[in-house]
Amino acid sequence: VDEGYRYRERTLKSQSFMNEASEYMPGGVTANIKYFTPHPIVMNKAKGAYVYDVDGNEYVDYLLSYGALKLGHGHEAITKAIGDQLEEQGTCLFGTPHHYEVEMAKQIKQLYPSMENIRYTNSGTEATLLALRLARAYTGKEGIAKFEGHYHGGFDEVLVSVNPSLEQAGPEQEPNSVLESKGMSERHKNTTITLPFNDLASCEEILRKKHQEIGAVIIEPLQGGFIRASQSFIEGMRQLTKEFGILFIFDEVKTGFRVALGGAQELYEVQPDLTTLGKVIGGGFPVGIVGGRKEIMNITSPSHSADVFDISQSQTSNASDVLFHSGTYNGHPTILACGLATLEVLKKETADVCNLTSELKTELEHLFKQYSIPMLAVGEGSIFNIVITDKKNISHYRDLQASDFKLRKKMDLRLLLEGIYTKPLNRYSVSTAHTAVEVEKTIEAFRRVLNDL
Ligand code: PLP
Repeated sequence: VDEGYRYRERTLKSQSFMNEASEYMPGGVTANIKYFTPHPIVMNKAKGAYVYDVDGNEYVDYLLSYGALKLGHGHEAITKAIGDQLEEQGTCLFGTPHHYEVEMAKQIKQLYPSMENIRYTNSGTEATLLALRLARAYTGKEGIAKFEGHYHGGFDEVLVSVNPSLEQAGPEQEPNSVLESKGMSERHKNTTITLPFNDLASCEEILRKKHQEIGAVIIEPLQGGFIRASQSFIEGMRQLTKEFGILFIFDEVKTGFRVALGGAQELYEVQPDLTTLGKVIGGGFPVGIVGGRKEIMNITSPSHSADVFDISQSQTSNASDVLFHSGTYNGHPTILACGLATLEVLKKETADVCNLTSELKTELEHLFKQYSIPMLAVGEGSIFNIVITDKKNISHYRDLQASDFKLRKKMDLRLLLEGIYTKPLNRYSVSTAHTAVEVEKTIEAFRRVLNDL
């Protein structure tokens, strides 16, 4: 039976839901990333390592809300933290400082010593936005540089060369800056400079030419959360940015708490000037954290702008020597309570999740070998991706583009029919709720799919 037919038969209610949703929301979705063809699967229940769709199908979940749910769905430590916090404090946001903010800041500093001071935001996107503003304020330089294929959120400055077509991408050693979205200002082609990942000599050449206009180099230390920067590359970039008076920002929204509890900076033993975190540390709720050297973070401090005893001074000083950072929901107590509960579990269980992920990767590679399909399971810690390629190693965006996406998507759609969930072409994240049972189910499902292919 044709697989398209099987897909539709198995997900009839999802399809009719999407038809209705499309009448109210463009494409039927609230985030473009949720969309895929033939039609997205609509979930309505989840527990542990499993999600269930509106047609009643069960899936082992490897999407885990794009990596955010490191404890799986509905972990009792999280539901208890929510219950306790709400019971004690109601749905109150206070609008004032509170103890969860400091508790979390202490924990973060312990795990990420480079984050001497932090600020909270409501998403990873807001975190990178603030980090770049800090870099501009600190260095006095307008432009930024990012790497081809790296994602840092949904605003114009960083929506450059995230997923460019190879026709537009330009020379490998000095990539073009390609706008990712309609509606963006053309100026970002010039103010956001695109660097080639894992190519230190070319980066040096570009930075040597343009360093006077670049305030920050922002990087996903593992591109997409899974393609490793080489040790010499990340150390070299650390050195170069220092030399050129550029702040080096590790965007660890994906890699934080996943490639290691202390993120990529623990893995590489390299200290960035600024770091952004999100996803896992919200325990499933929206959050972002920006942190870094005290002298940089301190630009946001309103406390040095006024004489504290002079009550005639405006309390909401807009003094231009202070960097603006505010937000109604910043440091939301319920979310920070979830984050703290998440950390408690992860301190005990990180090694187990990493070991289980390793096992899964090894078994998958073994299985693909049996079917003579050239494949790499690329990643660190509890996050990886399946790349169908003849290459021995994947080190940047263009390597990935040369892989077999067509076969991968076909395989992913078949896996959905076998009860294995990740969004087609997305990476795999593993949670503390996954066990050897789910790994075995997954391998068996892959075996059936590879047999059919
Ligand atoms: N930075 C990285 C590396 C990310 O992976 C993401 C989201 O996937 C973001 C920033 C944006 O985070 P959010 O989706 O919470 O806005």
